[in-house]
Amino acid sequence: MMGPGRDRFSLPVSTLASGYALSIPVLVVNGAKAGPRVGVTAMIHGDELEGLLIVRELWRTIDPAALSGSLWLMPVANPLAMEGLTRNTPIDMLDMNRLFPGQPDGWLSEQQAHAITTGFINEVDALIDIHAGGTFPWVDYCYALNDEALARAFMSELLYKPAAMYPATSAAAALARGIPMTVIEIGGGYQDQERHVRNGVAGVMNQMRHLGALAGAVERRPRQLLLHEIKVMRPRNGGLCVPRRVLAPGTWIDGEQPLADIVSPHTFETLETMVTPFAKNVVVLSRNYAMRIHPGDYGFMMGNGATATWYD
Ligand SMILES: [Zn+2]
Repeated sequence: MMGPGRDRFSLPVSTLASGYALSIPVLVVNGAKAGPRVGVTAMIHGDELEGLLIVRELWRTIDPAALSGSLWLMPVANPLAMEGLTRNTPIDMLDMNRLFPGQPDGWLSEQQAHAITTGFINEVDALIDIHAGGTFPWVDYCYALNDEALARAFMSELLYKPAAMYPATSAAAALARGIPMTVIEIGGGYQDQERHVRNGVAGVMNQMRHLGALAGAVERRPRQLLLHEIKVMRPRNGGLCVPRRVLAPGTWIDGEQPLADIVSPHTFETLETMVTPFAKNVVVLSRNYAMRIHPGDYGFMMGNGATATWYD
C-alpha cells in the first residue's frame, strides 16, 4: 500500500479527431490507515456542475492522516460534455449514463463508459455518483439502492427507492458488482449553489463515516422521507416554461395544482399547464424561474405522497 498523501492518474480513452488525447482524470487521497477504497464520480452529465464543486471541496478538505483506506475522486467523468455544458456527449450526442458498462469499440460515450467501468467502478469498494438538476431544473434527493443507511447518511430530506434503477447507468454497473452505492442528486437551476455544495460535502463525508473511511459517529437526520414512486412529468409542447411559483424540493402539494404554463414564444398563448399528478405530491425536481423548455424534457418530478414512508 502507498503511504498517506495525494496522488493522481488518468484513464486513457482515445485520440480525438483534433489529435488531442482524451483521458479521464482521477484524484487520489491515500489514507494513513487500512480501509475501503471509496469512489466518488461527478459530471457524467456535463451540465451538472455541483458535483464538480463538491469534489473540489473534498479534494481540499480530506486529510490523508484522518482517512482509512483511500478516496478516488473523478471530478469530470465526461470532459467533452462538461466543456460544452451539455447533458450528453457533444461528439456522438449520447447520454453516457445509459450506456454502462460501455464498450471499448463503441461510440465515444461507450468507450468512456468502458474506461470508467474497468478503471474505476471495478476498482473501488463503494461508489457515490453525484448528479444535479442541470442548468435549468433544481433537485435535492438521494437514491436508496443496495445500502439504505449509506443513502440516509447523505442527510438529504428526500430519499428515493425506485422499483428498478434506470438500466445501463454507472449505478447499475456498481450494483451488478454488489458494492455499496448511491446516487446523489443535488442543486441545479442556479439555486442556492453554495448551500448545496456545503451540504454535499458534509453529506459525502458522513457517508464516508458510514463506510468506515472516516472516524466518528455517523450523523443522523431525523424525519427523512422515503419515496417509492416518482412521476417524471414531461411537457408535450416546448416553448417558454413559466413556473407559477418557486417550489423547493420536499414541498408537499395537493392534486390538480398548476405548476407551470408552457407558453408559445410566437403568440404567448398557453399551450398547456402542467399540473400535479398525484392526490398528494412531494416536489422532487422543480423549475424555479422562467426558461426555454423542449417537448419531452424533464419538466417536473413529483413523488407520490400517498406511498411515501417516514424514517424515525
Ligand atoms: Zn445526471
